Amino acid sequence: MSQDIRIRYGVVIHGGVGTLSRVQMTPQLEREYREALSQSLRSGHEALMRGAGADAVVAAIRVMEDSPLFNAGRGSNFDAYGAITMDASLMVGEGRMAGAVAGVTDVRHPIELARLVMERSAHVMLHGSGAEAFARANGVPWTPPSFFRTERRWEMLREAKKREAASSSEGAGGEGTVSHGATPSSDGERLDRTFLAQDGASGTVGAVSLDRNGELVAGTSTGGSVNKRWGRIGDSPIIGAGTYASSHCAVSCTGLGEAFIRHGVARDLCARMEYLGESLAAAADELVLEVLAAEEATGGIVAVDRHGTVHMPFNTEGMYRGYVGEDGEPRVAIYRDPLAPLGL
Ligand code: ASP
Repeated sequence: MSQDIRIRYGVVIHGGVGTLSRVQMTPQLEREYREALSQSLRSGHEALMRGAGADAVVAAIRVMEDSPLFNAGRGSNFDAYGAITMDASLMVGEGRMAGAVAGVTDVRHPIELARLVMERSAHVMLHGSGAEAFARANGVPWTPPSFFRTERRWEMLREAKKREAASSSEGAGGEGTVSHGATPSSDGERLDRTFLAQDGASGTVGAVSLDRNGELVAGTSTGGSVNKRWGRIGDSPIIGAGTYASSHCAVSCTGLGEAFIRHGVARDLCARMEYLGESLAAAADELVLEVLAAEEATGGIVAVDRHGTVHMPFNTEGMYRGYVGEDGEPRVAIYRDPLAPLGL
């Protein structure tokens, strides 16, 4: 499915498997996605040329967090109560340094905060108001939660609520209405699973890098699943589930978070390489195309190993994705087409 790609150093990204179906995609929107992916890669490459892998991963993810096109930062999904809560994580293979945040509402770049947790705290994962207090204590400016809201994601929440009302025999959750403090129904888990399969309804952004010193870094950032409830946290901020980096490989995941958590996908991929000697492609394909697919869990992975092998399997119609190697030219794709430079 994916091309065999080899880089000496570079950055690989995804913007989620929650792509619009080809039927829904317009040429204009496709162009916008491809441009945003290319810009993220350019930014990652520039950072890689100036500094180390963590700079590149953070720089690439920042661009996608700022773009309303992706479900991370600005443009994140709404939860069942009409709020936006975001999760992110970052891991550096060398020394297995990691930082993560979950359920933050007022931090413009959650990936930056994850990095601060890694670099300036004794902890790995901070949550909610505690993470936000840590942000303020470390000079991260407050961003009004309204900054993250987009009409498109609000509409997706309304759609999710409508489906919920239609499919729930109890009819709980309102008839497509959304309000802060609304009482969520008890079938949220089922809804998440079915709704995530809808066109463009989910997503996440992520990046992995191999820098010129051979260091591997991975990061992931998301608004989580639409209409999530009960303080639901997915795989993206969980080290070992949605993100992992070791001396062998760096991995960032997207898809049905609950399945990625149960299978510990990101860590399992690296462990298969380390313990079983599997190739990156064999390990990643097995996880995405066999293990997750067997339980109908949508998903995709972007990964790079210490030899510079890049692999990006997914089991959905598309995954926003791309990479940039030492030539500095971003190559991107959305569906099963080959990765290509912008404009081709
Ligand atoms: N993995 C993300 C989550 O479960 C969603 C996604 O990647 O589509 O929060």
